Amino acid sequence: MRVIVLGAGAAGLAAARRLHDAGAAVQTLEARHRIGGRVWTDETFAPFPVEYGAEFIHGEHAVTHALAAAAGIETIPVDRYERLRWSDGGPARTLDALPVVRRDLITALFQAFDRLRDLPSNALDRSLADYLRESGFDDEALRAADVLLAQTCCASVETLSCADLSRELRVDHAGKREYRLRSGYAPLLAWHASGLDIRFGAAARVVRHTFGGVAVETDAGVFHADCCVVTIPVAVLQRGIPRFDPPLSASKQWAIQAMRVEAATKLLFRFDEPLWDADLTFMAHTGLAARWWPAAHTTRDAAVMVAYATASRARALDALDEAEAIAIGLRELQTLLGRDDLAQRCVAARRVAWSADPFACGGYAHIPPGAAAARRILAAPEGATLFFAGEATVYDSNPQTVHGAIESGWRAADEALNAYSSSTQIFR
Ligand SMILES: Cc1cc2nc3c(=O)[nH]c(=O)nc-3n(C[C@H](O)[C@H](O)[C@H](O)COP(=O)(O)OP(=O)(O)OC[C@H]3O[C@@H](n4cnc5c(N)ncnc54)[C@H](O)[C@@H]3O)c2cc1C
Repeated sequence: MRVIVLGAGAAGLAAARRLHDAGAAVQTLEARHRIGGRVWTDETFAPFPVEYGAEFIHGEHAVTHALAAAAGIETIPVDRYERLRWSDGGPARTLDALPVVRRDLITALFQAFDRLRDLPSNALDRSLADYLRESGFDDEALRAADVLLAQTCCASVETLSCADLSRELRVDHAGKREYRLRSGYAPLLAWHASGLDIRFGAAARVVRHTFGGVAVETDAGVFHADCCVVTIPVAVLQRGIPRFDPPLSASKQWAIQAMRVEAATKLLFRFDEPLWDADLTFMAHTGLAARWWPAAHTTRDAAVMVAYATASRARALDALDEAEAIAIGLRELQTLLGRDDLAQRCVAARRVAWSADPFACGGYAHIPPGAAAARRILAAPEGATLFFAGEATVYDSNPQTVHGAIESGWRAADEALNAYSSSTQIFR
């Protein structure tokens, strides 16, 4: 069995690994000159790994832990939400130190979010904003919810479907605790990729598929196989890349266009020494650079702070030139830390804007109201030749994550193996 896997991110590598281990001849075609996709660990910005893309393992039961253990990579617990510091204008304070009204509001927002799990499905096809309004939250509360609940989903409260959030809460099997990989994510994926045949600089332009197989035209030539696993980010598919010949089914095209992919931008700041107390793990406010954390919680002298913004906030930061975006970030950080010397103490800074990346075209996909079925439809095979994986296809676990992408790669690989074994039984 010959299989082409399009994309060497978490999903593509998981699919390729499983197919390779099952005895298939697998050719992975990757547009970039590196593996990882939206996993991109940098070793140059600081004297320890800094994540430009995925950073945390979301969940104590995420499949990533078993892979990390097999690869000999340590995972380290990180308490972010438990130690959240919030700011309404001055220095960020722990929930205990906030005025009671503010603390109660934040607690109530998280509780309202958790209640989505148990809402009847006919009450779900609306935005998170509508649900919160109907639950009695005012506009100020919605602004906090946008930061605390929607930004992490690379969305705004106005566009995020309660139906998909509820689905995720119900099927979640990863858990709530968070971790980092001591080595960063890249070595984990490199371990996963070892022995695989990956062609770099091979952006797929056209995928011709017939009952008998596929031919993929790329920047590095034409490749043939019995079937193909597509893990290209949905925002790239939305731009018609690659072109499918014949075109994908109408339902698949609907699912691709129904999803929404927003901008996702990190601002990174390295200082001459850590300028915050050792207990600081997470700060948030309603500014442009809304969510902040130190880039490594376990490394002594890890003087790097990361701001993560998505959706309209990321678009606003992306619209500025890099120096302006960095200046805004520094000003907001000064307020959050209650300092006035950050510009002098900052030794390096950079912006990583995923919407400007032609092989990602944004952060990760969310489901707006009216599109609850899109993940499952995107995941469905087209005949016995095209199989689909990637974070956006995850309907039975956590989309928008590395572990969800890995699980989707395994699912698509199993679908391809099953389809091939059925067809060889028919024709034997
Ligand atoms: C800023 C940011 C922070 C994040 N933080 C976290 C986090 O803390 N924890 C977490 O679990 N997840 C996080 N995520 C999400 C996580 O990174 C993704 O869910 C996951 O990496 C997606 O994997 P994938 O294989 O589906 O897609 P990708 O990693 O995007 O892989 C797709 C691959 O396809 C390639 N490709 C694109 N076009 C073509 C083409 N035409 N031909 C061939 N190849 C092509 C791409 O180059 C890429 O390598 C974050 C994402 C971002 C952007």
